[in-house]
Amino acid sequence: MTLSIAIIGRPNVGKSTLFNRLVGKQLALVDDRPGVTRDRRDGHGKLFDLEFNIVDTAGLDDVDDKSLEGRMRQQSEIAINEAQVILFVIDARAGIMPMDKFFANLVRKKAKKVILLANKAESKASQSGLYEAYSLGLGDPIEFSGAHGIGIDDLYEALKSYVESMPPEDIDDLEEDNPDKPLRLAIIGQPNAGKSTLINKMIGQDRLLTGPEAGITRDAIAIDWSYNNRKIALWDTAGIRKKARVKDKLEKLSVADGLRAVKFAEVVVLLIDATVPLERQDLSIADLISREGRALVIAINKWDLIKNKPATLKNLQLEVERLLPQMAGVPLITLSAETGKGMERLMPAVLEIYAIWNKRITTAQLNKWLAFQVDQHPPPAPGGRRIKLRYITQTRPRPPTFALFCSRPDDLPESYKRYLINGMRLDFGLKGVPIRIHLRAGKNPYA
Ligand code: GDP
Repeated sequence: MTLSIAIIGRPNVGKSTLFNRLVGKQLALVDDRPGVTRDRRDGHGKLFDLEFNIVDTAGLDDVDDKSLEGRMRQQSEIAINEAQVILFVIDARAGIMPMDKFFANLVRKKAKKVILLANKAESKASQSGLYEAYSLGLGDPIEFSGAHGIGIDDLYEALKSYVESMPPEDIDDLEEDNPDKPLRLAIIGQPNAGKSTLINKMIGQDRLLTGPEAGITRDAIAIDWSYNNRKIALWDTAGIRKKARVKDKLEKLSVADGLRAVKFAEVVVLLIDATVPLERQDLSIADLISREGRALVIAINKWDLIKNKPATLKNLQLEVERLLPQMAGVPLITLSAETGKGMERLMPAVLEIYAIWNKRITTAQLNKWLAFQVDQHPPPAPGGRRIKLRYITQTRPRPPTFALFCSRPDDLPESYKRYLINGMRLDFGLKGVPIRIHLRAGKNPYA
């Protein structure tokens, strides 16, 4: 996936002209009269060395038709949600109108990167509009003219600095499954769970300091590693670098440490000490992994110390399913980092869950599936009117995320959403990864 940009603004401010300039083709019909362009257009845009996908919401420019306002708002919201950068266009010559403010509010609420373009700045009459633009609260406006190419350099600078300032996890979000890029893996768990021992065994070198004292290792960096020719960046939770002194034997896995590791990782291995009851191990980290949308593998370590293995495993499986329903089907691997037994199953499980996490399902498959699900178990009919599920599409992988268009999204009960998510897990094999379904009002906006 490339950088995604949406052009937002009230009708007739010059969105189509800008779109055409960036896409480089006369795809959109441009005219001075409002309401000339009809469709929401997606295009591949280029600006010097920057490439991006760009969406123009100009299609519903029709100030005469009041019923279109709602649709336009809806289109804009979808575009805003899906984009990383918003090009917010105003007409500096016309000045700020109530509808500019309305759209500005919409954009501000989403806390996205916004670049404010005061368009038609070639006009002498644009100066006061330029000053008014500050009142939108979207930052400093760029004096711009899509038609005359004024301000293109400033726009480029703004985009470039955004791309360069993106946190690595966001950049990697854009890169999807690329076998040339290292898969980012973190192993986290309570102190003494055996993380250092496990990482040592994995990388085959005694680079880590292990010891029985909790908290003996503190800092974290990533280790370059490879598994079956697949490059892996292994987050070294345990910390190779320093032989830090034991500070506090009762030290817990700190939330900040866990969060850093989870943010870094695509797949997280949660290492559990089989000799410590599960209630005493911090599973809130698993919840964090789910909320951050990462893929999870649970590894049960020190399996060599367990006497009744089948009973213990059964118990753990039940407990994990009970405690982590949002990650149903998460792989559970028993191993001994000390002896190496069972370790050969860890990386295959990591790669498998990574593939599931990256999975894309076609819209056709999804809608066929949705029709079946609805048929099997129709959504409720609060107030006697049945909620209609109209259309579903996957908006992104990593983790699998879907937009479901329906009537009255606020009335669709959580239990029905869970029914759909569970069905998806089974029917599309999305075991053990978080699944997101965003409900959206209305008809299929892509149709
Ligand atoms: P960390 O704090 O999670 O990095 O844990 P360490 O790797 O330092 O391990 C803590 C202690 O558990 C050390 O004494 C290890 O030797 C021991 N240990 C780690 N893995 C295993 C295992 O699979 N079996 C047994 N019996 N002991 C282990």
